[in-house]
Amino acid sequence: MFDKKNGSMKDVKGLMKKQLQKGQMALLNSIAQIADRADVNVYVAGGFVRDLLLNIQNLDIDLVVEGNGIDFAETLASEFNGIAKSHARFGTSVVILKDQSRIDVAMARMEYYPRSGALPKVERSSIDKDLSRRDFTVNSMAIKLNGQGAFCLIDFFNGEMDLKAGFIRVLHDRSFIEDPCRIFRAIRFEQRFKFSIEDQTKASMKNAIESNLINQLSRTRLMNEIKLLLKEPDPIGCVDRMQELSILQNFAPDISNDDSHWLAMKKIDSVLAWGEMIPMLKKPEIWFVYFHGLFIAMEDAAFEQAMERLHFPDKISSRMRSDRAHIVKAKRDLNERREPKPSKIYDIFSKLSSEAVILLLVACSSERVNRYAALYFNQYYMLAKIKLTSDDLIEMGMEPGPIFSDVFKALRDARINGQVVSRDEEVVLVESQFLQ
Ligand code: ATP
Ligand code: MG
Repeated sequence: MFDKKNGSMKDVKGLMKKQLQKGQMALLNSIAQIADRADVNVYVAGGFVRDLLLNIQNLDIDLVVEGNGIDFAETLASEFNGIAKSHARFGTSVVILKDQSRIDVAMARMEYYPRSGALPKVERSSIDKDLSRRDFTVNSMAIKLNGQGAFCLIDFFNGEMDLKAGFIRVLHDRSFIEDPCRIFRAIRFEQRFKFSIEDQTKASMKNAIESNLINQLSRTRLMNEIKLLLKEPDPIGCVDRMQELSILQNFAPDISNDDSHWLAMKKIDSVLAWGEMIPMLKKPEIWFVYFHGLFIAMEDAAFEQAMERLHFPDKISSRMRSDRAHIVKAKRDLNERREPKPSKIYDIFSKLSSEAVILLLVACSSERVNRYAALYFNQYYMLAKIKLTSDDLIEMGMEPGPIFSDVFKALRDARINGQVVSRDEEVVLVESQFLQ
């Protein structure tokens, strides 16, 4: 498949000058000069090249060095007054510049996979071998920055053609077996660019899924891939695709097949848009809303089993557990027929994380509950600020102890319900209810 002679040698300097920001082009020119002086061939590769050809801005510069990448990263760092951080085992570095922008630097390398899903063993190599270890044709292009053929596109796998046709295509049939992460990456790029996964690629992807290769990924890699997918601009497109390809069931068999759950998932987007318009205290972490949404319809026992089987990092599972409990309670409280007092609405919403608020609104899907959320964030939250402090209560003759939280709760409720407005009125309330 790989044929150096057939690789395109199209000059892309004009395109780069036209599309890149001046500073970025100047940076690449400086890197080229430093590479000349260091007597190594340096290339910019991967997503940067793909996005240049798609005319999409990409600030992540990934350099490939034929030679010692770590030495070159250190040279770059000293020339640009930045810092180089290196991973000797993988021959990779990141150079952090003064403006905090980052340049990834790697030695051109070949990879061997000791077993499917394992981290590869790496060996220093040339750009052609480096490009042939990559995931998809559209991600396997490079631009040489210095020496002979500088600013030419290197495209051994017809990546440019696939970009034009909108295809995600692997470089060889064993690609998904070598690294099942690519299953998620294929969906990520398919959904981001609204491309199609080429037929043969799709067939080998399905094979890898049916052979349960995803289970061979470490939980950290799996979590990372899912997180990246859900951070894409169209997370629900990615979720749909995972569902269609039976990927979700593959790692969490109890995930609901119930249509109403999927309909609810599809509402997340509009609830998030609505949430943008109200002054939430903390912006919800969008990927987490979708992620938790996947598990929210499960019964408690199935949820706990899923948590056990997936052994997510403790931080994630305890966050899900706590949000889940609060959502269930909030739903029950809000279901009561009586119109709740403002202080009751405050009590319900003040316990919810931003992500739980979104999931609650999705689950309830009612104008009434939306109105309560808007009232909480627009009004009750501000109204709840009490003027009296613990010191004031002591000065009024109260003994510090658990009673203080009862006093503050009474003051807050009274403020939210409009019974108390000023500091003086707070004093009257404390005297009448707690000091007699
Ligand atoms: P993004 O815009 O999402 O960052 P990207 O193409 O830059 O997309 P990265 O994950 O940053 O993706 O990886 C950089 C490059 O490294 C890819 O373009 C691809 O060539 C290569 N690559 C990354 N992950 C893999 C993988 N699992 N298998 C093979 N090649 C990979
Ligand atoms: Mg990238």
